Amino acid sequence: MQGQQQQPIIILREGTDRNKGRGAQLNNIAAAKAVADAVRSTLGPKGMDKMLVDSMGDVVITNDGATILKEIDIEHPAAKMVVEVAKTQDNECGDGTTTAVVLAGELLKRAEALIDQNVHPTVIANGYRQAAEESINILKKLGVKVNLKDDKMLRNIAMTAMTGKSVGHNKESLANVAVGAIKAVAEKKNGVYVVDIDNVKVEKKIGGSLADTRLIEGIILDKEKVHARMPTSVKNAKIALIDTALEIKKTEVDAKIQITDPGQLQKFLDEEEKTLKKKADIIKKSGANVVVCQKGIDDLVQHFLAKDGIFAVRRVKKSDMEALAKATGAKLVTNLEDLTPADLGKAGMVEEKKIADSDMTFITGCKDAKSVSILIRGGTEHVIDEAERALHDALKVTAVAMEDGIALSGGGSMEIELSLALNKFGSKVGGREQLAIEAFSKATEIIPWTLAENAGLDAIDVLIQLRSEHEGKKRRNAGIDVITGKVVDMLKENVIEPMRIKTQAINAASEVAIMILRIDDVIAARKGAGGPPGGMPPGGMGGMDY
Ligand code: ADP
Ligand code: MG
Repeated sequence: MQGQQQQPIIILREGTDRNKGRGAQLNNIAAAKAVADAVRSTLGPKGMDKMLVDSMGDVVITNDGATILKEIDIEHPAAKMVVEVAKTQDNECGDGTTTAVVLAGELLKRAEALIDQNVHPTVIANGYRQAAEESINILKKLGVKVNLKDDKMLRNIAMTAMTGKSVGHNKESLANVAVGAIKAVAEKKNGVYVVDIDNVKVEKKIGGSLADTRLIEGIILDKEKVHARMPTSVKNAKIALIDTALEIKKTEVDAKIQITDPGQLQKFLDEEEKTLKKKADIIKKSGANVVVCQKGIDDLVQHFLAKDGIFAVRRVKKSDMEALAKATGAKLVTNLEDLTPADLGKAGMVEEKKIADSDMTFITGCKDAKSVSILIRGGTEHVIDEAERALHDALKVTAVAMEDGIALSGGGSMEIELSLALNKFGSKVGGREQLAIEAFSKATEIIPWTLAENAGLDAIDVLIQLRSEHEGKKRRNAGIDVITGKVVDMLKENVIEPMRIKTQAINAASEVAIMILRIDDVIAARKGAGGPPGGMPPGGMGGMDY
């Protein structure tokens, strides 16, 4: 027994990659920082765009942090954790994704310096946690109330979210559309607003210009009526939503029907026609004058419906069916025989209109108009796609502003205020944690720093000016106007953001930084090759290398 103790004990399968201690920490930090560096240059109104080309050659041009990180293939596990931050930020606030990622990178960079000075990662993690909690308290005190009666403020919030996107010069009209849409779908529950952004449908159609983008109180379907002889418009529409095919069901089994004389064939065809006619009759009998079908509609059924003056569209997306159900009060019918007048939804008008060179169906005047659509127009696909992303940000921030009713000035003003207050907080806490809190305080300055840097300004000068405005003159909303390069009151400049963007960014960035700091051992199984010995047949999954 004695002699065997000298032998190393192997507990991991051969080929497993293991990285321990400081090496693992620094490797993870480097990966996270690399993600932050990848999006840094896009921050702020003067941030640049990125052109991403995927393996299929599809091109995306964007300035949106979440989109960039979604499109590029990231392998490193720690880097992936930072990408998650952007995703959560996008889900929660729709904006501030670059901010969150850049902040996470900076927190880790500052932590690295502390690790080099032999501060233990758990101490850093502890200090960061305290600093993050304190940051939320500080920000709450700095918040300004959003007056929901004041559309101008909501518009400014929407516009701030869109500055710097390539659609920036149209931000005024887009902000109008966004605020209109959110106000239309906002519901007051127990005294507070709740906004379900899914009630705003966004349709895109190439052609015209961004300025033609408009809000429609109702739903747009990118579909045309199925038969030329159907009416182009139906007033006082009674809408049947059918999610089954208006066709003859094909048998699942491979059956053959043998027809021996022409009479039989005719009988067979007549029978088919009768079945289809019956489908059209059921619809007519229910009183519907509009049919929206999720599946196909047989030519004959189309013909019968057209004869009865019924408007019909087919192959409508499931999400559109659901939106229609909500807006018109219709019930989705799966079994056509079950269709009754009570299942029908109502709309003031259903009409087909030509947009660019294709026909679309507009369903407007719904009695329960908690559903609106935005039709984005623009010269090219790339313009429209980026407009959609900008509009998504604008819609989401407007919704958040309505829900929370509290906002903060932008342009780096809050980060400077935070940095100063955290520094004071640090000296109160004392001990080794103070070092970490101070590092956190310094890290928040990365936002104004990067805003200035991306605008081609001298970041050191800008930061000195900002600090003196905040500390010396107590101008808490002083931020950097990246257009003029001057330090000004950001509220007066109408650069304003919902508070949730900042609190979420700080929470998410500090959480991921802490999580990465606490890892000191990375054990990674080897990818692909070398399955369990004697297990799976070798090479079974060959070539599945993602
Ligand atoms: P994110 O993905 O984090 O939203 P953005 O590129 O949208 O990144 O940049 C957001 C930052 O730009 C915020 O800090 C915001 O305050 C700032 N910002 C927005 N508009 C202006 C402006 N007109 N002047 C200065 N800073 C601005
Ligand atoms: Mg933004």
